[in-house]
Amino acid sequence: GEKSVKDAFEEELRKYGLDEVVRVIETGCMGACTLGPIAVIYPESVFYQKLTPDAAREIVEEHILKGRIVEKYLYKASEGKPVPRVHEEVPFFKKQVRIVTRNLGVIDPTKIEEYIARDGYFALAKALQMKPEDVIKEIKDSGLRGRGGAGFPTGLKWELAARQKAEKKFVVCNADEGDPGAFMDRSVLEGDPHAVIEGMAIAAYAIGAQKGFVYVRAEYPLAIERLNIALNQAREYGFLGGNIMGTDFSFDIEIRIGAGAFVCGEETALMASIEGERGQPKVKPPYPVEKGLWGYPTVINNVETLANVPWIIRNGAKEFRKYGTENSPGTKVFALAGKVKNTGLVEVPMGITLRELIYEIGGGIAGDKKLKAIQTGGPSGGCIPAEYVDTPVDFESLQKLGAIMGSGGMIVMDEDDCMVDVARFFLEFTVEESCGKCTPCREGTKKMLEILEKITSGEGTEEDIEELEKLAHVVKDTSLCGLGQTAPNPVLSTLRYFRDEYLAHVKEKR
Ligand code: SF4
Repeated sequence: GEKSVKDAFEEELRKYGLDEVVRVIETGCMGACTLGPIAVIYPESVFYQKLTPDAAREIVEEHILKGRIVEKYLYKASEGKPVPRVHEEVPFFKKQVRIVTRNLGVIDPTKIEEYIARDGYFALAKALQMKPEDVIKEIKDSGLRGRGGAGFPTGLKWELAARQKAEKKFVVCNADEGDPGAFMDRSVLEGDPHAVIEGMAIAAYAIGAQKGFVYVRAEYPLAIERLNIALNQAREYGFLGGNIMGTDFSFDIEIRIGAGAFVCGEETALMASIEGERGQPKVKPPYPVEKGLWGYPTVINNVETLANVPWIIRNGAKEFRKYGTENSPGTKVFALAGKVKNTGLVEVPMGITLRELIYEIGGGIAGDKKLKAIQTGGPSGGCIPAEYVDTPVDFESLQKLGAIMGSGGMIVMDEDDCMVDVARFFLEFTVEESCGKCTPCREGTKKMLEILEKITSGEGTEEDIEELEKLAHVVKDTSLCGLGQTAPNPVLSTLRYFRDEYLAHVKEKR
């Protein structure tokens, strides 16, 4: 409904001859899905939610013309008190720390000047005055780890690529976000594309690359459109292209649009796709930092990782480490979905507990039902039962529970959800997306799904459950790439914590 609200604001302002004085700016997503469409009136920062075209007209007449806040469109705090300001007072935002999403909902992503006004490209200018090895050291010191799922140290990856002697090197931004329910990378590209471009340029300078690619899925047309605008503006301003900012550093970026295969998020498949080959994984090693695109050293980072980079260079590694934990510094962006009151995009310091995330930011379980489990990491992740709700959200803690941080999909489930069905949903997805190159994944996941369907339809036996578990371990241990190696995780984690539900399906039959 955003478009009709925006049109109503513009129409009404025109009616009063105010369209030259009051600007209506379309920004990227601020994250609060359940409150939308929203508008923030500056300079007072008054936050209006759940707007309609009529509400927009009323706000112009009352707020803009008469300076009177229209209370009925304000967010209401739990005690019913209307809350006029956004980040400080709305609980959804209060506990968030916005590094990656700091410009989302604030700037017009199609105007480079607005990015520059928020210190944009300052980090690139600063990096260009540093030695490449010092840039890498800063990223290493920050402890930044890849936000795409695996959590590999970003600085180390850059160092490995920088060490390679090669006539060409590449930087790739992985924007092939494919987990069901995940929209972190999409929101960053739509709301702040220059942060990603700046991060890529800094990475390129650090490792000695001349060329970059953003691999983005075709299902993200707005992200592609805004990225294209941003790339052209960055070239006009001399932040991309030859002799950047008067130095001898040259770097440019091309967009490559993926056709939506989940496996193309895997780095070797992604590179094959960029090269024009069929997007299928290859055996590693060699790793992309040694032999990547067309055999040249290549650093592949995901959108969120790269969007952290300018902030770190600008503010320093020490400042970054003020957030998060010793082994997982900084923040993480999550797409909070499922049976939670406030769904949306949230950025939180690592180490925050699942309880804080679900109950304070998420506002608790929808319909005040009981929390049953939290699924993190999408089809590669696992389900964490409610009893672990005080677990801190960081790479190691989630892994210990059989889940993973993943790229940031987080689905909350309540007492009505069947965990066997949840496992089946994710397995159906991976069976569909398996590229078919290796037998364990191609045949194994299919066989697993057959057994699961037998169980959910009430035809299964206890032996089937054991067979399913055995097969899950075989697929995990013997598949070629990350897709197959992690595909059994939703089954294994639900078997670990909710075996009784599998048994209930079997017993139903008897
Ligand atoms: Fe393809 Fe699955 Fe094998 Fe990966 S594990 S190469 S997706 S068949």
